[in-house]
Amino acid sequence: MSNPDVPQPIVAGRGGPDTGPRDVLRDQQAPDNTHAPSTDRGTLPNMRFSFSDVHVRLQPGGWSREVTVRELPVATTLAGVNMKLDARNERGETGVRELHWHKQSEWSYMLSGHASVTAVDADGRNFMADVGPGDLWFFPAGIPHSIQALEDGCEFVLVFDDGNFTENSTFSVSDWFAHTPRAVLAKNFGVPESAFASIPDEELYLFWVPEPPGHDEDVIASPQGGLGEAFVYRLLAQPPIKTAHGTVRIADSSNFTASTTTACAFVEIEPGGMRELHWHPNTDEWQYYVSGEARMTVFAAEGKARTFDMRAGDVGYVPFAMGHYIENTGSETLRFLEMFASDRFRDVSLAQWLALTPPELVQAHLKLPDDLIARLPKLKPVVVHR
Ligand code: MN
Ligand code: MN
Repeated sequence: MSNPDVPQPIVAGRGGPDTGPRDVLRDQQAPDNTHAPSTDRGTLPNMRFSFSDVHVRLQPGGWSREVTVRELPVATTLAGVNMKLDARNERGETGVRELHWHKQSEWSYMLSGHASVTAVDADGRNFMADVGPGDLWFFPAGIPHSIQALEDGCEFVLVFDDGNFTENSTFSVSDWFAHTPRAVLAKNFGVPESAFASIPDEELYLFWVPEPPGHDEDVIASPQGGLGEAFVYRLLAQPPIKTAHGTVRIADSSNFTASTTTACAFVEIEPGGMRELHWHPNTDEWQYYVSGEARMTVFAAEGKARTFDMRAGDVGYVPFAMGHYIENTGSETLRFLEMFASDRFRDVSLAQWLALTPPELVQAHLKLPDDLIARLPKLKPVVVHR
């Protein structure tokens, strides 16, 4: 037990060595469980869950997995799905997420690869776009859509505006056909029942489909008109807000008009840098860690605070109004998404709040050095510093 790489639950003379049984790999990934800062206190719910700890639904042409309120009970406002659609196979097919709709809106960030996405709205206007790394799409609740990998396949994270969402209960076109009387299908489409002899007898979900032709050759002209690129936003093409040790890009209904129920910030922090102490005055925050390692302490009032260690593939969560920071504790760039079930991204900076409050009042509370108070930032940079 003397291995210095194995964290021991001993801090400042308190605690004692863990002689096992223990899961050393997990303890090493979450040192702030065994070595919590002395400022942590009280009972707070879990606010971290890894996509590595969930069942993967394997399908022809891809896979999916989800972190919802079932895995992370505190996460009531948003749920996430991580999905892979396979690259072109020897038959010239790529993976597709079948034509479907659901009760929740769907927001997505493309992690790698390329896809073609389609949708049709309630006014009969259609949408089709190709998306690549760093692109977003947004489908309002109830709007039918599909996602098909292009030649190189793709992997993305989907965010739904309800923690109770599950990918396993969406409305799929194959499922509906399979559960409608053949005579009704025949009447609806004005053809003999024999036309439905080959329909699937259950939901397809993910499956192989011939690779789509070039975008220009595949456009269906709608008499009601098209939606252009209304449901797509090229997030990484946006010039970022640059700070000394990181960057921030924000997409919400102010610049991604369609995204009326989901707002996001994509944050990059260099090693040692930190997303400043802040909170959100409108709603809970759901996080997805794209790369790197981090720690976050959540302040919950009543003297309660808890620190969580995050890494790529993790979901984090901060309940409404609770104070927090996110610090890059690794040796590579930390990248993560801050997601909100809201039309706008909004945050309140601790430092800016104090900067714009009479200094004597701040001083009377906190007994801070005068030069610190004089240097507080009055501008709103979404500060990332070290
Ligand atoms: Mn969907
Ligand atoms: Mn935040």
